[in-house]
Amino acid sequence: MFSIRPKEESCTLTTGSQTHDCCTPQPNEKVACPQCNEKAKSVLGKTVEHLVTDKAKEKLTCFDGFYYCKTPSCEVVYFRNDEILTQDDMRVVVGLKDGVSPATICYCFDWTKEKIRAQLQERGETNAVEDIKAKMKNPGCSCEILNPSGRCCLGDNTKVIKALKRELGL
Ligand SMILES: [Zn+2]
Repeated sequence: MFSIRPKEESCTLTTGSQTHDCCTPQPNEKVACPQCNEKAKSVLGKTVEHLVTDKAKEKLTCFDGFYYCKTPSCEVVYFRNDEILTQDDMRVVVGLKDGVSPATICYCFDWTKEKIRAQLQERGETNAVEDIKAKMKNPGCSCEILNPSGRCCLGDNTKVIKALKRELGL
């Protein structure tokens, strides 16, 4: 189900002598979601810490060791063994889940399915990917703490644009 992101879509940027890596290498081990059984990728503790509600935090002893379920039809957002966090535990709407609004894809620069669809309907194209790539260089992105996946959103955007184009017959 998961494809490796092509190299050109990696978002490691070098600014001066400092390397800014918005996709800090994370453990690549995948674990099946207890609800939908699809393989899920691990997520950094700081991603969970920034994105869950204070109420959810009270239930957790720490934020490490969670996995992110990206299956659109599955209500699980994060899981760790039998601990499950859903949309109700999140401070942001998880845009890749079914039927949500706003369906945010890029949390750093606010690209939503709604906005991409509107552009496609209006002019048959969208500048989402170009805009995100340009802004990743300047001012830079914060996927680790803003995107529920904790990772670069470019691959997700590409998939969403393809799906919307198909849907709109473009
Ligand atoms: Zn799931």
